[in-house]
Amino acid sequence: MTIKKEDKKRGYFVYNPDDDHGFPIIATSAKEAKKIAWKDSEIDCEWIDIRVRWKRNTKVDDLPIGYVKDEMLAIRRGIYDWLEDATCDICNEDKTVEHYNGKVICGDCIDKINNKKE
Ligand SMILES: [Zn+2]
Repeated sequence: MTIKKEDKKRGYFVYNPDDDHGFPIIATSAKEAKKIAWKDSEIDCEWIDIRVRWKRNTKVDDLPIGYVKDEMLAIRRGIYDWLEDATCDICNEDKTVEHYNGKVICGDCIDKINNKKE
């Protein structure tokens, strides 16, 4: 597979609409993301049911095209919005964490940051 230089890498969240779980995919188009998910991820539905969402605020230029198996990497780069049972960058506790300004932090720490601003 050859990649043209002008093809910009993007982060996609590829999912089955009947399932909460989705797969982080780096590709240059939604069509390509769908193909990669079908081939490499554990997505469990019919081809026609696969949904692809382009995550606009991702930073993935330095990552290879393909399925991102590392969930922490996926949330750090903004392909996942949140993740359960992951370690917060600030308090180091295992909680549900969110992508927040390039960091991966829990809701409690986000609240603290927002309260400081007020
Ligand atoms: Zn925290």
